[in-house]
Amino acid sequence: MKKFKPANKIQDLQYFGEFGGVNPSISDSSTYTFLSAKTMFDTFEGNADGCYLYSRHTSPSNLYLGEALAEMEGTETANVTGSGMGAITPVLLQLCNSGDHVVSSRTIYGGTYAFLKNFTPKLNIETSFVDITKLDVVEASIKKNTKILYCESVSNPLLEVADIKALAALAKKYNLKLVVDNTFSPLSITPVQLGADVVIHSLTKFINGSSDTVGGVVCGTQQFIDDLRNVNDGACMLLGSTMDSLRASSILKNMRTLHIRMKQHSKNATFLANRFEADGLKTVYPGLKSHPSHELFKSMMNEEYGFGGMLTIDVGSLDKANELMELMQNKNLGYLAVSLGFYKTLFSAPGTSTSSEISEEEQEEMGLTDGLIRFSIGLDNDIERTYQIMKECMQEVGVLELVS
Ligand code: PLP
Repeated sequence: MKKFKPANKIQDLQYFGEFGGVNPSISDSSTYTFLSAKTMFDTFEGNADGCYLYSRHTSPSNLYLGEALAEMEGTETANVTGSGMGAITPVLLQLCNSGDHVVSSRTIYGGTYAFLKNFTPKLNIETSFVDITKLDVVEASIKKNTKILYCESVSNPLLEVADIKALAALAKKYNLKLVVDNTFSPLSITPVQLGADVVIHSLTKFINGSSDTVGGVVCGTQQFIDDLRNVNDGACMLLGSTMDSLRASSILKNMRTLHIRMKQHSKNATFLANRFEADGLKTVYPGLKSHPSHELFKSMMNEEYGFGGMLTIDVGSLDKANELMELMQNKNLGYLAVSLGFYKTLFSAPGTSTSSEISEEEQEEMGLTDGLIRFSIGLDNDIERTYQIMKECMQEVGVLELVS
């Protein structure tokens, strides 16, 4: 891994367009010409630096974005993909063969959960889902054929915090790869600095920040990224989840303001979490002292970016959650929508949306209740005003009385 550079140093990168444009030119080609057939062959084999062959393999625009993300995560390099799932699935398939085993946090994004629970068993890859905050349980689940320890730094949707240093020590002890999805905490947490081997993001969320595209990235060593891109057996190469160059270029431009946006998301979420908790609402936010992993998060975080933009409240029932979310949308406090990292606040009930792949019994076991509302707090300039209107909504639907 290269020497770590703080994430907001993205402005240290210099890319120019071929006519001196301050933004790199967008590669508007799916295929590339060669002056000699020999160079074409070498490029196909990955032996001709600076040459491009075909845009599913890679393109200048995708490389620029990948390098910016590698700078952010402190890894040697990165590979951008067509979606977050398009980053997660090839990593898991690259690191496991038939007969291998994964130890995964049980509170992860529903799509990742479904892939490990329902899809990879078809390839004879089994997963043990564990409470990632219980290191003894994690260790006890490791078997001879375990290859991966998988978690999210801050989990979707329960906002459990993974002890990345301790998990990295376990991974090292048993010769596993620690793969961390850092989608919920870009900039705030830098998993590789804490010992993770591979870091994944859904770029769809905070990093792009404008809810206009899906995208993903795998950040890791040059060797691992080369393996993923290998034309003969690389999972990114062969599964074909490639990002379009036009999108890569627009995500790169949005990413330049990520450090400013994350500070504002964190500031607003901290304000609301404190108020909600003081009002008697069951509130979960890593920045609250009441969060079981508050101190752990503090010990891992890059302080200036705060505790992130995600919080949850539990309003007791799905009906109440739906009533409240519809009212908040009517009052223009945000959108009743899945996803996260937008300038507007987004809210949804994960039990019936983004985590619906997880069975009801399992949801109950992990504490994912029907009345849980997940908020991705927006960039509101006047968060005090937002809070006042939210409070009125909560009073109108009887949520505050219900829980206090
Ligand atoms: N990881 C996390 C934590 C997510 O929340 C999501 C999507 O919600 C994904 C991965 C998947 O990303 P994408 O929708 O870009 O495939």
